Amino acid sequence: MKIVEPAIPLGSCIVKQNTLEDTIIEPPSRTLESSLPASDLPRVVIIGGGFAGIALIQKLRKCPVETVMLDKNNYHTFIPLLYQVATAGLSPGDISSPLRELLQDDDHFHFRMAAVESIDRGQQEVQTNLGSLHYDYLVIATGSKTNFFGNEKIEDHAQKLREIKDALELRSHLINNFERALLARDKEELQRFMNIVIVGAGPTGVELAGAVGELRDHILPKDYPELDFTIMNIYLVEGSGKVLNAMSDFAGRNAKQYLEDFGVQVKLDTLVKGYEGSVVTLSDDTKIASECLIWAAGVEGNHPDGFEQEVLLRGRIKVDDHNRIEGFEKVFAIGDVAHQALAGHESGLPMLAPVAIQQAEHLGGNLRRLLQGKALKPFKYTDKGTMATIGRNRAVVDAPFNISFGGFFGWFVWMFIHVISIVGFRRKLMVFTSWVWNYLTYNRGNRLIIHPHKKAAKETPNPVVVEPMAKGA
Ligand SMILES: Cc1cc2nc3c(=O)[nH]c(=O)nc-3n(C[C@H](O)[C@H](O)[C@H](O)COP(=O)(O)OP(=O)(O)OC[C@H]3O[C@@H](n4cnc5c(N)ncnc54)[C@H](O)[C@@H]3O)c2cc1C
Repeated sequence: MKIVEPAIPLGSCIVKQNTLEDTIIEPPSRTLESSLPASDLPRVVIIGGGFAGIALIQKLRKCPVETVMLDKNNYHTFIPLLYQVATAGLSPGDISSPLRELLQDDDHFHFRMAAVESIDRGQQEVQTNLGSLHYDYLVIATGSKTNFFGNEKIEDHAQKLREIKDALELRSHLINNFERALLARDKEELQRFMNIVIVGAGPTGVELAGAVGELRDHILPKDYPELDFTIMNIYLVEGSGKVLNAMSDFAGRNAKQYLEDFGVQVKLDTLVKGYEGSVVTLSDDTKIASECLIWAAGVEGNHPDGFEQEVLLRGRIKVDDHNRIEGFEKVFAIGDVAHQALAGHESGLPMLAPVAIQQAEHLGGNLRRLLQGKALKPFKYTDKGTMATIGRNRAVVDAPFNISFGGFFGWFVWMFIHVISIVGFRRKLMVFTSWVWNYLTYNRGNRLIIHPHKKAAKETPNPVVVEPMAKGA
């Protein structure tokens, strides 16, 4: 974590800020431990207020435990709609809820905004930027992080999408490129600003490509009448031979068709080999001049330090069918950070919100049983299906019992499921209203460039000419 000095004194605390990084409050005297009221109840510490963390907290209400949630942010994010923040369809407040608001009216619940650094299982302590904290039971629910598979150069220059700050950065970067396109010195430079490359044709890449296509067709031409958007290319690059590789053939085929109807150029069986900020090099040595590469090609578990390599797999912590970390009595992991291999899912359950929620609800029941001295019950996953939307009116859905469908009905189902899943009635209403407004007016009200850019403008050493593509080709 980079801290930008000077620190600003604020009452008795010191608040250190960095433009896009988290704000950290460092109390000068009280530690995390001493800031909590004394309690005789066993203490359950939950690290992470994501889908898993908040589902567990709800389940532990009225349970005779003191619950302490730690999160580096003071809000929960509805990650499946992050791409809509990145493409100006929604604002951050529509998809984020303050954790304290979610968890009011419970005397035995405490929240502290703290970044957990490591776990000391010998001492039964969590080490954070605010000091250490003792636990009787520990639940790790720290989610996942973007996986660049060791490509440091790409990591330095690509945009990613995992948190609110990434979405805001991506939105600013996307829109700022059109401001820069107005000042392009020649055709090559202009094309570089108009090409967008998205890596990874999973649900995130597919949904982003559709949303960027909508921006190009309906919004950007009105904002930038001096630019010719028929030359704007959207590339979707995928290493496997299929769009939406984890979904059915029906979903993959239809999603590809919808994307191509939108003018998205889908490149299958292709990897991105290199990117230094202005030219993307593909595995077949094709070069695409672009100032915007969006990396949606993978995530890995995001675990705190303190675990031996034997319990880790691709950044995830191996757990048994009670979500207990192998070899540790009182430490559990749930959600994306947990690697749980069950029958039918031998390589681990997928990193999806329903998995995180179901594991959390099950663990809540098991913690109650543990406190009552009863035997724990094994977790069983119920697959409720997966879906992805491609612009307005189109989505693909794989429902339970091998039922797949798409088109307008799929899109309607996608919208309904997402609206009801968002936390809080006010936010459901805000998202629904924004969508109706955007749908009817072909508008997106959040096209604000807010953050300074970490990706500086670069000169292309050998400008690469990419032929303009006709819209809809
Ligand atoms: C762009 C994108 C789109 C997605 N779309 C879908 C979708 O459409 N449907 C679907 O089912 N799933 C989707 N997923 C996956 C889904 O978001 C995850 O499976 C889900 O968020 C996992 O929940 P979790 O609680 O394990 O982690 P998260 O929801 O990520 O929560 C982790 C929490 O831990 C906190 N944290 C992390 N590290 C620390 C630390 N060191 N100290 C303190 N706090 C920490 C974070 O601030 C966060 O609040 C998507 C994921 C991404 C990245």
